[in-house]
Amino acid sequence: TDTAPPDAARLAEAVRSGDRRALARAITLIESTRADHRATAEALLAALLPHTGNSVRLGISGVPGVGKSTFIEAFGLHVIGLGHKVAVLAVDPSSQRTGGSILGDKTRMVDLSREPDAFIRPSPAGATLGGVARRTREAMLICEAAGFDVIIVETVGVGQSETAVADMVDLFMLLLLPAGGDELQGIKKGIVELADLVVVNKADGDLAATARHTVADYRHALTLLRHGDWRVPVLSCSAVRKDGIAAIWTTIGEHKALTEGNGARAIRRAEQARAWLWSEIRETLIDRFRAHPAVRADLARLEAEVTAGTTIPAAAAHLLLGRFLDRPGSA
Ligand code: GDP
Repeated sequence: TDTAPPDAARLAEAVRSGDRRALARAITLIESTRADHRATAEALLAALLPHTGNSVRLGISGVPGVGKSTFIEAFGLHVIGLGHKVAVLAVDPSSQRTGGSILGDKTRMVDLSREPDAFIRPSPAGATLGGVARRTREAMLICEAAGFDVIIVETVGVGQSETAVADMVDLFMLLLLPAGGDELQGIKKGIVELADLVVVNKADGDLAATARHTVADYRHALTLLRHGDWRVPVLSCSAVRKDGIAAIWTTIGEHKALTEGNGARAIRRAEQARAWLWSEIRETLIDRFRAHPAVRADLARLEAEVTAGTTIPAAAAHLLLGRFLDRPGSA
């Protein structure tokens, strides 16, 4: 870390010592899009990297109203009670588009947020899901270096965010409502197949019987769903009554033991790191491309021509790429 700017090295030290303000500052730094901040952020991450990876990385998804924040609060408090430190991050690309975020509501998880062993961070704002996802991955590493050993990445059941989150965690959990099949629940095609664990929430009161049927239906439907040696379990819980939370944590422990034992977790993380490299290259290239003066000069016009059908997309792309790469004769 000799080459790291001194402030990055000092910030890394403070993060590792458990200084919560330093942790918040570090995450603000990696969320910044300023070029000089970016350089410091990369030095910070390089300094912290040897101290990352020692957490259970959980993704949690489900349609709005399924009870994600209620569940995460109950689950987080349970796990803290067992002596763990829990960080909750969010991936919510809607926060950019709508100006308000689905997951960012400050009043959520009030009890959990009061815990000294909990750290809750709303979704970073970002123009693209890719931009939000890359910052969340980095925030996850920073939280690990700060000593959090359970990282929960929450996402909404809209857009492509589930895939992005499943690609950064060890276990992806899908919360379901006590109700009929995927379509009735508003679950997009292919999302259930991403899950390593399916949990029917709200298994209480009037909904208890429906929850039992939903569990039976999904157990039947997912009989053949496996990820390697792992058969995807279907459980139920009541987040408000805190029923079934302990069993879910036990199941997550079984998944950890199995996937650590057979090497699947290490392979998954290695593949995620490779995919992250390529998405980082993609995102950076596109950012630079858009910002390039010779590209900016004609991007809007060419985009309009392509939309109007007067220019072929490939020709416009070649022209712009030529300018970006500063090829002679392409201007
Ligand atoms: P989110 O949008 O997925 O984060 O869902 P919330 O956690 O905000 O919960 C949505 C609503 O469902 C709230 O009114 C909760 O009180 C309620 N809810 C959450 N968990 C349960 C549960 O286990 N049982 C019942 N009956 N209601 C729940």
